[in-house]
Formats: sequence, C-alpha cells, structure tokens
Amino acid sequence: MSAVAKQSGVAGPTSLVGHYIDGRRVTGAGARRAPVFNPALGRVIREVVLAEAADVDAAVRSAALAQLAWGRLPALQRARVLFRFKELISQHAKAIAVTLSEEHGKTLAVAEGEVTRGMEVVEFACGAPQLLKGEFSESVGTGVDCYGLRQPLGVVAGITPFNFPAMVPMWMFPVALACGNAFILKPSERDPSVSLLLADLLKQAGLPDGVFSVVQGDKSAVDALLEHPGIAAVSFVGSTPIARHIHAEATRHGKRVQALGGAKNHAVIMPDADLDAATEALVGAAYGSAGERCMAISVAVAVGEATADALVARLKARVAQLRTGAPDAPGTDMGPLVNDAARVRVRGYIDSGVSEGAVLVVDGRSVAVAGGEQGFYVGPTLFDQVRPDMRIYREEIFGPVLAVVRVPDYAAALRLVNTHEYANGAAVFTRSGAIAHAFSRDVEIGMVGVNVPIPVPMAFHSFGGWRHSLFGDHHVHGPEGVRFYTRLKTVTQRWPEPDAVRADFSMPTMK
Ligand code: NAD
Repeated sequence: MSAVAKQSGVAGPTSLVGHYIDGRRVTGAGARRAPVFNPALGRVIREVVLAEAADVDAAVRSAALAQLAWGRLPALQRARVLFRFKELISQHAKAIAVTLSEEHGKTLAVAEGEVTRGMEVVEFACGAPQLLKGEFSESVGTGVDCYGLRQPLGVVAGITPFNFPAMVPMWMFPVALACGNAFILKPSERDPSVSLLLADLLKQAGLPDGVFSVVQGDKSAVDALLEHPGIAAVSFVGSTPIARHIHAEATRHGKRVQALGGAKNHAVIMPDADLDAATEALVGAAYGSAGERCMAISVAVAVGEATADALVARLKARVAQLRTGAPDAPGTDMGPLVNDAARVRVRGYIDSGVSEGAVLVVDGRSVAVAGGEQGFYVGPTLFDQVRPDMRIYREEIFGPVLAVVRVPDYAAALRLVNTHEYANGAAVFTRSGAIAHAFSRDVEIGMVGVNVPIPVPMAFHSFGGWRHSLFGDHHVHGPEGVRFYTRLKTVTQRWPEPDAVRADFSMPTMK
C-alpha cells in the first residue's frame, strides 16, 4: 500500500468516509450514512457519512476564519503551497487512481489520466501572481492614478459529480485557493474517498487548516450550502435538472454561481473524412470510461448514406474487439457503470431504442464478465438509423451507447447539432479546411473539436457548454475561473500637494 493510501485511513471495506473540517477528519453531527460500492464487484465496500446543516455550518465558520489570513497572504506564497501540492499529487497519483477506480469503476489507466488532467489545473493555478496582476492607468487626471484589483470572494463551495471525483474538484479549488478564497467541497456520495486524499495532500503541502474542507453528503448538505449566508459563490458540475435547481437557488440566496449540466455530444462525420481515424476516435470517445463522461461522444452524425454504411460497418467490427472487464485487469477497455441504478437506466434506454425502431447493431445488455457477475456492467452498444424524435437521441444516457443518425448533407448535420437541448461539446471529422472553419464558426456549442473527438480545453483555457449544459455566466478554470473566483475593485487615488484641494460640488471629472 502506498503512503497516501496508508495515511488516508479510507482503505479497507469497513471504513467510514467522513468529512474534513478545520484540518481534521471528523464524522460530524449527523447519523445518516450511505453505502459506497465497488461497482466491479457490486459490493458495498465502505460507508460515507451524510452531512446535516450543523456540519456545513462548522465548515463555513472554520473556512471564514481561515480565509482572512489566507486571502491576505501574497499570491506568491499561496502559489508555493500549490507548487508543493502539485508535487505531492505527482508522487501519489497511482494511489489516488487506485481508490478512484475502486469506487468509480473506470480503468486504472483512465483514472491516472484523470488525476493528470486535474493536476494541470494546479499547475495553472501556480501562476497566481501573474493571473492576479491588476490593471493600472497613470494620470487619469492631473495627479490622479487609477488601478483595478481582483480580490477574493471569501468562502466558496464546489458541488461535484461522481464521474470525475478527482478532476472536477480540481477544476475548481486550485483556482479558488490561488485567488485567496477558502473552499468547501461537497463531493459525490457515490465515490467520496478521493476528496479526503486530496485534503490530506493539501495539508501536507502546508495549506492552513480551514482553507479547504470536505463536507460529504446528499441533497441536505447541498441545500445547507446554498442557503448559508457565509458562502459567497457556488460552482456546480452534474446533471442538468440539478444544475438548473442549483443555479436558481444559489442566485435566490444572492450567491455568484456557475452550474455545469449534462450533455449529448455530436460528432459530424463528413464524406471526405478519414473514416478509419474517425472510427478509432469515435470508439474511444463513446465507450471510454463506459460513456460516463460529460464530453463523451454519444451521437455520430453521418453525412450521406455511403458515409453512414461505411462508418457503421467499421464501428461494428471495432466495437466487437472491445474488452469489458475488471478495471484493474490488464487490457480492459471499459469497466462497469457506477451503480445498479445506472445499469438499469442504461439498459432501459437500449430497450427503448429497440422499441422505437432504431437498428441495434451491437447489444451490450447481456455482457458477461468473469469474476464480476454481480458487477454493474453494460457492454458497448451501437445503434444505427436513430431519429431525432427518439428518446435515445434526445436524452442523456450517460453510458456506453453510441447512436448513429443519418443526414443528407452538412447543413442538416449543423441544424441537428444546433437544435439539441444540450450544447457541451461537438466535433467535426473532415479533410476540408473550409468545412472545419465553417463548423467552428457556426456551431452553437461551448467546446468544439476539429478531428478531435473530446475537445476538453487545457487548464489555461476555460471549460463550459452552452444552452442547457451550463447555467451562469462563467466557464470553469483558465481565465474564466480566475474571474469567477475574484471580484474587481477599482481604486482612484490622488496624493495632493498640501493646501491644493478645495471642495468641488460639480460632477467628478478628471482635470
Ligand atoms: P448529479 O446531478 O446526480 O449529482 C451531482 C451532485 O449534485 C452530487 O454532488 C450530488 O450529491 C448532488 N445532488 C444530486 N441530487 C441532488 C438534489 N436533488 N439536490 C441537490 N444536490 C443534488 O450528477 P451525477 O450523476 O453525479 O453526474 C453525472 C452528470 O454530471 C451527467 O449529467 C454529466 O453529464 C454531468 N457532468 C457534466 C459535466 C460538465 O462539465 N458539464 C462534467 C461532469 C459531469
């Protein structure tokens, strides 16, 4: 067992996953608990405590106190803590990935990749002194200078989904901390342990107690965060109905909010595309992490019948080679879904696709995994001839199901992408610079790929969708993250010569 797993105290099937408040692990005030599963085995491996309002209040009080000093620390000193944190994540990436994979079900390699993508935001946040540099105008009037500062908001909260228990929190807290805020994380109750590993590493890196807290829980914890007057801003990532609710409630309570929701990402396959490359890209993007990614491709829009026939034939052959199995077994392409409810939901969508008349090319409903008979597995599934009125097209499935929609031309493909409820990511596969350029300009989507199936922006750009994939004004991390976690103050200053100032009753203009 690695150092981080040993010290985490979360390894072992009977352990209780608690909160992290004021620099300590605590079990809190509430008596409610939820089971945490190993989805590959279909077995409960530990329990997580569920916070009540009193736990949230304890976290906010500790955070508010700690933030006063943290927010005043020079940005360079905050960055040094983040530098040490980044080093510690690198050292413990494997151990974090093991815990992550055990509770989530994604393969170890994919879990390690997730940790790396989260760490890249820490690297971005290490540039705090540069990121927080203000603006300055000399002599806006005679002897008058004007400058703008970005200051922290205070205590901010992050509410995160199950599908990226390391990366999505790290989209938020490194930037929030770099900007001088204290951060309270409410992770998903389905895979809560990684949050505590991150808390331990932050402490080892020298983060003062109270600046980062973890409150485990469900709707009660979220409601308490949304209502608490001590919290200035809320970042949320999860499904669209909850994102909409969080946005409305947080706004009603006077908080700044960014709420990222669900997705249905389309890939448009043009007749001139390299179909072999597009097939590889689609298979990875549709079935990686069992399709439980907000940037997964779930719709392939084939332009022209000949393109569609050739694409479906290639996809069918490639999907047949995929290995669904234990996340820690070598050669596994795809692990289980996160829990039994997800398995039942995804199988229900496959049933509905069949009954609505789509052509089921590959059926993942009866996948068998030796040693994982009780695991929450659904195999890779491929539908052809999917129509826009079908549920499997309209709704987010969040599982390993790829739907091929056939359209006659590029204009029909663009219309389809631009009129779907969700607008997180979209990609075009083409050899034409003109189509690539037109698509990038005209598609009404937050993140766009040209021959790139999962166009997740790097940490120094910002991540976010349009329409019902994001409620609020700011995308996460990158420059938008810095803007979200700071507020602007503009100072106008004059240092007058003695006796040079007289009362002025006119409108203040700079002379
Ligand atoms: P979810 O909406 O069920 O849960 C997200 C968070 O909200 C969790 O912390 C959960 O405890 C909390 N929550 C759940 N129900 C709640 C309620 N009624 N009131 C208040 N809080 C509640 O999402 P999930 O199943 O954990 O994650 C999958 C979803 O997240 C998918 O829809 C996926 O597309 C989306 N997602 C989006 C992005 C993005 O960047 N847009 C990234 C990752 C995941």
